Amino acid sequence: MATSRTGTGKWRRLRAEAIRRALANGQTNCPHCRTHLDYDTPQRPNSAEADHIIPYARGGTDTIDNVHIICRLCNQTKGAGKTRKRRTPKRVQPTTRVPW
Ligand SMILES: [Zn+2]
Repeated sequence: MATSRTGTGKWRRLRAEAIRRALANGQTNCPHCRTHLDYDTPQRPNSAEADHIIPYARGGTDTIDNVHIICRLCNQTKGAGKTRKRRTPKRVQPTTRVPW
């Protein structure tokens, strides 16, 4: 599931820095779903996690400017763009309703 790249010391430092910055900026909510972020408890759906703004798989870099803090749920949903087809429940029923 998680790539081994995110287990590197570099990423851990980057992640810690991103969280420090988010706290310093007073970020209390996930920018995607607006859920209140939990900075203290890991592994919760609303735990604060560092995420690449531009995914590494799409050329994003491991730099502080390319990392922001989102909730764990959004982070897991987003991945590296791999799960895009699955989590879109809003628009996925084209066959049952015909507007004309
Ligand atoms: Zn979120």
